[in-house]
Amino acid sequence: MFDFSFARRYTIYYIEIERIIVKMKCPYCSNPDTRVVDSRPAEDGASIRRRRSCDLCGKRFTTYEKVETIPLIIIKKDNTREQYSRMKLENGVIRACYKRPVSAEKIEQMVDRIETSIFSLEEKEIPSSVIGEMVMDGLKDLDEVAYVRFASVYREFKDVNTFMDELKKILDR
Ligand SMILES: [Zn+2]
Repeated sequence: MFDFSFARRYTIYYIEIERIIVKMKCPYCSNPDTRVVDSRPAEDGASIRRRRSCDLCGKRFTTYEKVETIPLIIIKKDNTREQYSRMKLENGVIRACYKRPVSAEKIEQMVDRIETSIFSLEEKEIPSSVIGEMVMDGLKDLDEVAYVRFASVYREFKDVNTFMDELKKILDR
């Protein structure tokens, strides 16, 4: 039903749009039950062209839906704000997985999952710590070395004891 292939990162917006689709009436007979038969980005790149079919009269029509990108703001530790960046998130994970047996695909899937969780919160502003915890959770299952690496940077281990505590947590699992 969804076509995520062309712009994976806008998943959440499509879900948003899908809610609108439910209410999309047939322009011929006003039947509220219409189906999407094809979705693709419109030439302007900012909207989605959808071919729809009416379940009642069988007629087909096209809609153009605007993908609205709501900017998500990240609240940093020092309380300053910056716009959410997938690239930044991805780079953090890639750095943690440097020279580890973790495929690019696995990293991408993990970032996808985190991104979906972030947007599902439906908040305009999210503390960077929330994302940090999500990354730690993800890395824990992916690669233990990457997890400790990320945790040591993220948690800013002040001494070897906090580091050992974190390490112990892994070993005890
Ligand atoms: Zn109809």
